[in-house]
Amino acid sequence: MKHIVLFRNDLRFDQQPALAAAIAAKQPQDELLFLFHLNPEQFAVGTARHDYFFKTVEWFKQECRKIAPLHFIVGTVEEAFQELITEIGNDISFYFNRQMSGFGLKRDELLIALLEKNTIPYQQFLDGHLHSVYDVMKPDGSPYKVFTPYFRQWVTLEKPGYHRLKVQFITAEKAQLTCFKKGEKVFNELVTDLKPSYWDDTIGLEAARKQMVTFLKNGLENYDTARDIPSIEGTSRLSPYLKVGVLSIVEVFHAAQSTEARGQATYIKELAWRDFYQMIACYHPDEKNNEIMPKYRAIEWEKNPTGFKAWSVGETGFPIVDAAMKQLNCTGWMHNRLRMIVASFLVKDLGIDWREGERYFSERLIDYDAASNIGGWQWAASTGVDAVPYFRIFNPTVQSERFDAQGDFIREWIPELVDVASKHIHEPHKYNISYIIPIVDHAKARLAAIERFKKLDEIK
Ligand SMILES: Cc1cc2nc3c(=O)[nH]c(=O)nc-3n(C[C@H](O)[C@H](O)[C@H](O)COP(=O)(O)OP(=O)(O)OC[C@H]3O[C@@H](n4cnc5c(N)ncnc54)[C@H](O)[C@@H]3O)c2cc1C
Repeated sequence: MKHIVLFRNDLRFDQQPALAAAIAAKQPQDELLFLFHLNPEQFAVGTARHDYFFKTVEWFKQECRKIAPLHFIVGTVEEAFQELITEIGNDISFYFNRQMSGFGLKRDELLIALLEKNTIPYQQFLDGHLHSVYDVMKPDGSPYKVFTPYFRQWVTLEKPGYHRLKVQFITAEKAQLTCFKKGEKVFNELVTDLKPSYWDDTIGLEAARKQMVTFLKNGLENYDTARDIPSIEGTSRLSPYLKVGVLSIVEVFHAAQSTEARGQATYIKELAWRDFYQMIACYHPDEKNNEIMPKYRAIEWEKNPTGFKAWSVGETGFPIVDAAMKQLNCTGWMHNRLRMIVASFLVKDLGIDWREGERYFSERLIDYDAASNIGGWQWAASTGVDAVPYFRIFNPTVQSERFDAQGDFIREWIPELVDVASKHIHEPHKYNISYIIPIVDHAKARLAAIERFKKLDEIK
């Protein structure tokens, strides 16, 4: 019997439910086979997340040599797995961590149908979140729509235990199937095309654990307040590792919980937002295309390609927005406070459809997670569950003065403002300082945004 572990965004050995189950099931005469499915339907060539993910796969491929080689198959779900089954035979069993929303959910449904058609046994597990989409429900069994009561229940539930993989070495699967050779060739070509990036030196588990330990030691104590200041490392910056699954959320949770740091409770609450948005994505499968609140589906968004361009390249004339977009474009990551500011600016100040911003983030973020990103955008657009009310609109200048009071973050990303005094840096145009003139009048834009929502609110 061959026990096939299918890896996807769970590129690790510790706290890996599918891998642990395969190892537990393996008899001495059995073989363990590691598999990665290259699905062209899932490639997002040219995006930051594609490059970051496949660089991590490349790192993981080397790691796998410690246990069993990682093989690749290529094609749609039906093509790739049928080819494998035809070649390898029926004496196999599959183990994988199932996705509960978005593309991954549909892909796994196809896979399960194919395995069942071929009468291949499989075991599926939930991974990637502390609680699954089924764990935290209202007393009547329906899903929550508001985070606070969701969290009240979430925090009382027992979390999964953390297990490190004990097995050091397992007999490697030597089979060189034609489908593996084909997959290997495609993978090698794909890796050759990946572009150098800001994160290249921090791919993989060692860097992830170092980042986590450093944050827990130096950052968690003051997380409550420091997490809103983009000029300092006040947050954990673990989102890319959690996204690709190099680091288990269960490991992060237990590591945070084992400290006595003041910021512990707030940090754990942030981890709950990931679960919340995953749950929302599962119960609102069309949230990428449609406003979750039906009454706002008729919003008339502005067609403003010039505004969108200025926003995306960081040339709006609002230094905090511009600096944030430059951070995103340069590094593939953006601080949470800034994600809220720039999302609000695009949707409320420029009146541009939140889907355009969501798409832009999906191309630029290395930690792009559809559930969290759509959740964040629909929150900022006031169209999602538990979203910011449409009349409470971020003033980008006030946000800048509050969260980048000295202008340190702005200076880091906008060299032409490096010598500007803190009291002038948030609105340079008012002080005759040479910088882009703001592309929009915030006060007027605010009223227009309120009007856009209000008229739909009044329709019964
Ligand atoms: C418009 C918008 C888009 C976003 N897009 C994404 C995205 O594509 N991928 C993504 O992982 N997060 C997204 N977020 C949430 C949040 O901004 C990032 O998770 C956070 O900035 C990551 O940095 P960190 O690891 O230092 O966070 P920390 O503050 O250290 O938080 C720890 C972890 O908690 C989780 N978390 C924290 N805040 C949130 C949140 N609001 N929603 C969901 N999870 C959260 C993340 O996994 C994060 O790594 C988005 C937020 C907004 C407002």
